[in-house]
Formats: sequence, structure tokens, C-alpha cells
Amino acid sequence: MHNGEAIVAACDQLAAISADEGQLTRCYLTPEHARANAQLARWMQDAGMQTWQDAAGNQWGRLEGSDPSLAALVLGSHSDSVINAGRFDGPLGVLLAIGVAARLNAAGQRPKRSVDVVAFADEEGTRFGTALLGSRAVAGTWDPAWWEIVGRDGVTLRQAFLDFGLDPERVHEAARAPESMAGYLEAHIEQGPVLEAERRSLGVVTAIAGARRFSITIGGEAGHAGTTPLTLRRDALCGAAEAVVAIETLARAAGIVATVGSLETFPGAVNVIPGEVRMSLDIRAERDEDRDRTLAAIRETCDRIGETRGLVWRWHETHAAPAVACSPKLVEALSTSIETAIGSDNVPVMRLASGAGHDGMAMAAVCDIGMLFVRCDRGISHHPDESVQARDVDDALNAMSTAVAALVD
Ligand SMILES: [Zn+2]
Repeated sequence: MHNGEAIVAACDQLAAISADEGQLTRCYLTPEHARANAQLARWMQDAGMQTWQDAAGNQWGRLEGSDPSLAALVLGSHSDSVINAGRFDGPLGVLLAIGVAARLNAAGQRPKRSVDVVAFADEEGTRFGTALLGSRAVAGTWDPAWWEIVGRDGVTLRQAFLDFGLDPERVHEAARAPESMAGYLEAHIEQGPVLEAERRSLGVVTAIAGARRFSITIGGEAGHAGTTPLTLRRDALCGAAEAVVAIETLARAAGIVATVGSLETFPGAVNVIPGEVRMSLDIRAERDEDRDRTLAAIRETCDRIGETRGLVWRWHETHAAPAVACSPKLVEALSTSIETAIGSDNVPVMRLASGAGHDGMAMAAVCDIGMLFVRCDRGISHHPDESVQARDVDDALNAMSTAVAALVD
């Protein structure tokens, strides 16, 4: 893991550990998860670390510091994937963390603080539909209600623990005391096109956006497409169309993102006026107050559209997560290390929010978090075409090693 090329090659090697031949799918508590942990443990040991698997199936490695009274700096990302995934979402951050530890170890001088590397076993939530199970176990925010969740393969989370050789009664042992951690640092592919457009190999994350999601039903009145004059209609789809454009306009004006990703019309026939529309809304921002203010404006606009067109709107919130700010100290440490270790094209250092969720959201409950984004090809992720350049990974390794060396000394 001594340079970008070696780290990319290791990501390729890890990607071969998959449930499906010819494509990458690696879910929580599966035989592939166990094989990936074993491979990661070997790489951690090669980097001079002691290794263990915790009570939730997360793989850990430790480079022991010279002063055991100091809290450890935790570096990592996740080892699980979506179905038919790319090779870098998760594993790149784990392998960069191992690379940073390997450099510290090779330098021969023991850092004062211990460096702990973690590969969280479930970030994506692919198998059980609930994300961040690995990092929530470590943060001590495991919810006992999860035990009865039935996975996509029909197996409960409790049974999957037993099948994997873990004891559900002992999951609390995976939780780490907040005072044992000085902070959590994660490198991750950007999963968006901003760094590429700005011609930067790296960016420092300021916050992980908080998302709210709604399932919306718009009630109108179905009728004959030939006999009902336009002036006498209550067409739910025409109202939805106005709303979709208004949502885009309002979110753009606020500098945030909002998406209608699903829209269905009922009864859905060529010669019938749409009497009902069901659609989704996903709205995210770096700051919860910006998101909620825009959401209020969207709802007001929808009410107005409803009054004009005789439509009834019903909103059902399906998901809400607050935004999580990165620690100013870690943002500063990463920015300084990019300036001193990389420089040139990356100065002034680009700072950006993460629109996607990450393990840091769970870890923020117990320690400071910081994140480094690495440019990825066309922003593609959750897809086999996911790609990074070895020289960008070199930049990430150099910047992260510099930041970590300063933080553990
Ligand atoms: Zn990820």
C-alpha cells in the first residue's frame, strides 16, 4: 500500500471477493464479508498492525502508539457494497488508511497516539435495508429493534449474526468509549462531478448533508379524456408537473438539492384524466435550516397549486437525518496537509459538502469526524464503471499521511 498504484491494485483484488461471478456484490454477514475481513487483516498485519474483528463483524487493525494514555486516531471506511458495485466506494478509504499506517510503521518511529484502522462491515444497508449498521455498533447506537429485520434473502439480522459466528447478545462490545477515540478520518471517492469539473484531485469535506424524504399523494379527479373540458378538470398530473418544476426552481435558488425521483399516475390510461399521482421527494442541504426553509417554500407552492387546480396534497415523511458538520480542527488539518504535501493545482484547497451519507454520520455521535474526497471519473459511483486515477490516490495518500502524522505526534 506504499503508493496509489498499489492501493488501486488492492481495490481490484478485494473486488474479486464477491457473491456474484463477474460483478461485485458484498453484503453484511455473508461468506464474502468474512473473506474480505481475512484479506484486510493480512494487509493490516503486513503494515505492522495488530488485528481483530469486533462483535459486529467490523475488521480492525492497530498501530500501537508510544503513549497508551492518549486516545487513538481512527482511520477507515467500509468494506460492504451495493449490488453490482464499483471497486472504490468504501475499499479505497480502507486501503488508504492501511497505506497511511504502513508509512508510519515504515518510518520506524512510533507515533505517540495509536492509529486504529477500521473496515466497517455495513455502510450501504444492502442486505437489511438499514444503513450504517457497522459504524452504529461502534458508536454504541445499535437499536435492538433491528434484530427482527428480515434481509433480502429472508434471513433475520439475528440469525445472520449467528450464521456468521457472532453472538447477538454481545453486540454492545463493539461500541467504543468516546474517550478512546481522538477523531475519525475517512477518505472516500467524491461520488459526484465537482472535483473533476474544478480540476482538483482532492477536496476537504465540510459537512455531510442531512436528507429528508417524502412520499406525496396528489388527489384530483379521474374523468373521460374526450368529454371533460380542460376548465372543469382536476388533473393531478398537471399539478404534479407544476410542482416538480417549482421544486427544482426553489432548490436551485437556495443553493441546495431536491429531487423527484419517482412519479406514478392513476389510473394510468391513455384516455383517462389522471385522478391521482404518487411521487417522491428527496431534499438535502449542508445545513438543516436551509433545507427546512426551502421545504416550507415548496409546501406553500404546492398548496397554492392545489387551490388553483382543486387538488389535495398528502405528505408522508419516510426518512429524516440531520446534517453532520465535520470538525473544524480536522478540516484545517486536512487542508493544511493538502497545501504542504500536494500544492499546485489543489491550492486554494477546495472545500465541499457531501451529498451522500457516510459512516462519519454515525461516528459523529461519539467523536470528531473529518473526510477527504478523492476525484472519481465523471462522478460515477454505485456502478461497475466507478474509477479513480492512481496519481489522485497518490495525492490522497500523501495528504492523509501528512495530516495523520501531525495529529498523532
Ligand atoms: Zn461509501
